[in-house]
Amino acid sequence: MRVFFIGFGQAGGKIVDMFIEQDKKAPTRSFRGIVVNTARTDLMGLDNIELKDRILIGQTVVKGHGVGTDNVTGAKITADEIDSIINTIDNRGTHDIDAFVICAGLGGGTGSGGSPVLARHLKRIYREPVYALGILPAPEEGRLYSYNAARSLSTLVNEADNTFIFDNSAWKNEGESVRGAYQRLNDEIVRRFGVLFRAGEVSKSGVGEMVVDSSEIINTLRGGGVSTIGYAVSETVSKSTKQKQGFAGGLLRGLKKREAAEEVLTGEDKSAKIIGLVRRAMLGRLTMPCDYTTAERALVLIAGPPNEMDRKGVEKSKSWVEENIAGVEVRGGDYPTESSKIAAVVMLATIGDAPRIRELMEIAKETKEDVVKSKERRSSMFDGDEIDPLFE
Ligand code: GDP
Repeated sequence: MRVFFIGFGQAGGKIVDMFIEQDKKAPTRSFRGIVVNTARTDLMGLDNIELKDRILIGQTVVKGHGVGTDNVTGAKITADEIDSIINTIDNRGTHDIDAFVICAGLGGGTGSGGSPVLARHLKRIYREPVYALGILPAPEEGRLYSYNAARSLSTLVNEADNTFIFDNSAWKNEGESVRGAYQRLNDEIVRRFGVLFRAGEVSKSGVGEMVVDSSEIINTLRGGGVSTIGYAVSETVSKSTKQKQGFAGGLLRGLKKREAAEEVLTGEDKSAKIIGLVRRAMLGRLTMPCDYTTAERALVLIAGPPNEMDRKGVEKSKSWVEENIAGVEVRGGDYPTESSKIAAVVMLATIGDAPRIRELMEIAKETKEDVVKSKERRSSMFDGDEIDPLFE
């Protein structure tokens, strides 16, 4: 799929920078990207986005210092300067793309406020679908972040064609700070979504047995709402065999060779391996942990060396996913890569119930009530008419 990424705010900018870096290493170019921010320093720190594709907005309002965590200002600035963002997108070229993907941390100010505004305008102007990849804040970042994320997400789901969720709190390790985990989390995000978004692109290793093209991803996402993805990876036999042979000393070599011969996979084994991977992907940690049985649609994707691909394995995996989700639409296929690894991605689209989002909405409701109460308390402090104001 040819994707036009727009990185909004600090988190979004860094992630798009990494998608472009990943794309540069791929055999063919599938991604292009621009970044938008109200903070000049965040734009400076990127490596793979051309200078002309880094847009600083809100200069007259915040003078390049960012909007802090004020997403209302982030939304307003974006609406005021939407023309310059759209111009940059047009200059970069959109005629050959399959979809837009807006990436942003939803708990902050710029990306949180700006993403839904941009999604609305992109949808009005272009025919291609507009997706968002939204990052949820960890509760430890404070209630304001959760409040911002809840407001941003509930707007975004009505503007974007579908919103992928990555939950920072589910992915950071116990005892680790969110900030300290950013690099690792971003690696996880780009690895997973990179496999998904590159599906259907021509690779040097040839064409897959069952090609997934971009229209299948788009159809799977047609239901809207929020989506999550699972991922699992395994070394191919030839690589693990090579490693074993490499590690084994002279005496052990003969024995290891015999083991290796036994490891050559038959068709059945290949299928079993693929089914095992798909199960691990769906039952393991999702980008947004949730009840996968509530997904309306799904897409199963296998990427790896051509000799590891197996039509029956993909078909059986699709059936297994179909048995386990609410809906009946499960698409799937494979694409060959030159990697020594075989990866499975399961995209669970249009999730019906996600406790994490319920929790976020609950925190946001309480926060709003507390803000109203404290405002009332503050204003009542100066109630009464004993003291005359200086002037009316
Ligand atoms: P903005 O620049 O105003 O849009 O706000 P930020 O992007 O700095 O922060 C918004 C949210 O994104 C917060 O919840 C941060 O914890 C999170 N965040 C910031 N940088 C990163 C990052 O590099 N990776 C991830 N996964 N999350 C980030």
